[in-house]
Amino acid sequence: AKERGKNTCQYFTPDMNARARELLQFESGLRQALEQQQLVLHYQPQVDLMTGDLIGVEALVRWEHPERGMVPPGDFIPLAEETGLIVPIGEWVLRTACAQSRAWRQAGFSPVRMAVNISPRQFRQSDLTARVDEILRETGLEPGALELEVTEGMIMNDVEAAIATMEELGKMGVLLAIDDFGTGYSSLGYLKRFPIAGLKIDRSFVRDIPGDTNDAQIAASVIALAHNMNLRVVAEGIETADQLSFLRDKGCEHGQGYFFSPPCTAEELAARFLAA
Ligand code: C2E
Ligand code: CA
Ligand code: CA
Ligand code: CA
Repeated sequence: AKERGKNTCQYFTPDMNARARELLQFESGLRQALEQQQLVLHYQPQVDLMTGDLIGVEALVRWEHPERGMVPPGDFIPLAEETGLIVPIGEWVLRTACAQSRAWRQAGFSPVRMAVNISPRQFRQSDLTARVDEILRETGLEPGALELEVTEGMIMNDVEAAIATMEELGKMGVLLAIDDFGTGYSSLGYLKRFPIAGLKIDRSFVRDIPGDTNDAQIAASVIALAHNMNLRVVAEGIETADQLSFLRDKGCEHGQGYFFSPPCTAEELAARFLAA
């Protein structure tokens, strides 16, 4: 047994041990983050590309880590998804975003849509609809003010189950949008069966327009496809005036990106964008 122990140990270099320890620490840190209120939401404006009016905001989670500072979601959402922590985290995000939206209204701001990202594991929860319903009741936000962003991969994983979930949410009056559209492998044949209100064109197709003719064609095609199906389009990651005018020319109705504003705190957003 001792021999084997020795051999086993050989596979783990001090370096790997350190990494494994770090990962474990990170995971327990993330657990604490929820309890100790280290998670925060930032909100990125979504605007009407024709008028420049604010039409909605997307809630984006961050972790205010006591030692590491602000940790972006890309650095902890995958681990949260893997460990299942995404379920309580996602619920916290949903409740906080809905409560914020409601608070802005009570402060007299004109209503804007609240978009919230749903993770694959969250989407597969059998009681997702009940949880969303409960949170809407709790916060007093009307369902039509909430838009859930799901990805193609989440839907294509089990199409029939996904459609059933989306239909339940749709019946409640909650809006649905497909996020990062074009990066997954949606069958276009299925698209018309999805009870969705809109598509979000992924930033990777926006980044190099109008210069890159391939991307320009893809972006234009997605907009045309969406319009043929009566779907609204939101372009992600608009950073330049050229990108904006290209998308506007193609009839893309909404957009978000650094050109308008990076994600900002609730206070900043209210001060800069929410006219009473
Ligand atoms: P996403 O849903 O595609 O969100 C858009 C990301 O693009 C955000 O990154 C946003 O800050 C960034 N972005 C917006 N405009 C621009 C721009 O003009 N240029 C560039 N370069 N980037 C821009 P962020 O906040 O780091 O979020 C990354 C991803 O993490 C999100 O991608 C989403 O998939 C995930 N995420 C964020 N919050 C949540 C959440 O509450 N729940 C879940 N499940 N996932 C979340
Ligand atoms: Ca999103
Ligand atoms: Ca996106
Ligand atoms: Ca994206």
